[in-house]
Amino acid sequence: MRQEDADELTSYIDTHRPIIYINYFDFHAVDGLIAQVNKDIPVYEYNEAGRHVDFKTKAPKGAIERSGNLAGFLTAFDDNKPRKAFLVLKDAHHYFQKESPSYSPEIIALLKSIAQRIMYTEGYYVTVFLVCSELALPPELEKMITVFDIPFPTIDEIETLIKKEYAECIIDENTINELTVSFKGLSDFEIRQILNLAYQRSGMITAEDKILVLKEKEQIIKKSGILEIVPVNSTMDDVGGLSNLKKYLRDKSYIFNNLGEARQFGIDLPKGILIVGMPGCGKSLTAKATANQFNVPLLRLDIGKLMGKYVGESEENLSRAIKTAEAVAPCVLWIDELEKAFAGVGGSGGASDITTRLFGQFLTWLQEKESSVYVVATSNKLNALPPEFKRKGRFDELFLVELPNAQERRKIFEIHLGKRKKLTGDVNVIPLLKETEGYSGADIEAVVKETIEGAFISDDKTVTTDKLLNTIKNTKSISITLKEEIEALTKEYEKYNLKQATPK
Ligand code: ATP
Repeated sequence: MRQEDADELTSYIDTHRPIIYINYFDFHAVDGLIAQVNKDIPVYEYNEAGRHVDFKTKAPKGAIERSGNLAGFLTAFDDNKPRKAFLVLKDAHHYFQKESPSYSPEIIALLKSIAQRIMYTEGYYVTVFLVCSELALPPELEKMITVFDIPFPTIDEIETLIKKEYAECIIDENTINELTVSFKGLSDFEIRQILNLAYQRSGMITAEDKILVLKEKEQIIKKSGILEIVPVNSTMDDVGGLSNLKKYLRDKSYIFNNLGEARQFGIDLPKGILIVGMPGCGKSLTAKATANQFNVPLLRLDIGKLMGKYVGESEENLSRAIKTAEAVAPCVLWIDELEKAFAGVGGSGGASDITTRLFGQFLTWLQEKESSVYVVATSNKLNALPPEFKRKGRFDELFLVELPNAQERRKIFEIHLGKRKKLTGDVNVIPLLKETEGYSGADIEAVVKETIEGAFISDDKTVTTDKLLNTIKNTKSISITLKEEIEALTKEYEKYNLKQATPK
């Protein structure tokens, strides 16, 4: 573990923080950290298997282990009243979760009593460590708990680890460099696992083993259950119109794919964009095409899914989502319907308090982001977004996508007809344009699909201009079906000075 982590933990111990919550899956690594900060203080460990064990040897211990369960263990500890001790409890979070069968108000009360004694009794130097693979803070203890986060190793630390422990099985410096970069975002434990696996397979570690890293990262996303990998099969050529936005993203992709050089040149790391605009006009499509253009995976974050039941759970979920995205970086992180995610920010009451906290956490991350996670957020309603999003320094740029103009509608018709191999001599798209004013891209796609379906059922099986015109006549565009909403959105967009996705 890094010296900075040990120093931070020591400062918490020295300032008598009663309970330190370490949320980390690798208990061995946490044991190492606790040992590193321990200056001859006796350690009482109650492990994840429900036993009182010797902290060093992990052998079952006498005396307190006869208490049988954690409540008994804590009572015995409390009766014992050691003046100086580390009390290490592993995976005790089950006792804090109300719907868990092991939920135990008794254990919470015992911990509270120990914490109170630490806070108010002179000469009582006890620190409780809750080492858990999940974060669940019981509200009764929340104020007494300090959450200690173990960050992933930095590039320098990864390099040191490889050079120190695996030097003999790696052939050249270049392999070390390549592996080091690709390991960023993985824990010490995961890095070692991959290196060991690679070594076992061939007795050597080569740059080709990066594939193992990618597989590991895929696993991380699947296991996190918070992010979703979206298959990307759309390119910028599938997006009709929006030429300003597409040019912007093409330029950014050049920077993103040459980050090292760009940074040396004095260019900031691209953060991401917010695309605001009319429904069905290509915002999500552009998000997908961006991942393709950048040649990286696309991850979707559903902020609604982050909301948890326990105190701190939502924040923990967001921080896990961010860590996961960073582990997979370089990637595009797509946040759909941003306005829904952060509705209620600044309000009062339980749910909106959580949303406000999440929002603050997300903004801070966005502003301080150091990783190559490119955020593409999409939204219909700018009014509903907290004003902080609209300030510079959060997103690199805010783009407005409006209903497509005639030239864009032409492109959109061509794209959707072309995709289905129906852009033949029987079709002239020009007469369609006048008839489709106020149509969204999604409306146009629907017209094309419906006409093709009709043609398939008909005897002559052809798709013609007339048939398309006929479908248009019988279709209501978004400007009609959602008339009031679209008018309100148009007015709303006028108020903000956003970059136009389509040149005016
Ligand atoms: P919402 O705000 O409702 O989420 P959106 O702007 O994200 O809408 P998309 O999901 O990108 O809309 O569009 C829906 C579908 O409509 C796309 O999958 C695509 O087939 C078609 N479409 C929309 N705009 C365009 C466009 N500019 N070029 C080509 N196809 C488009």
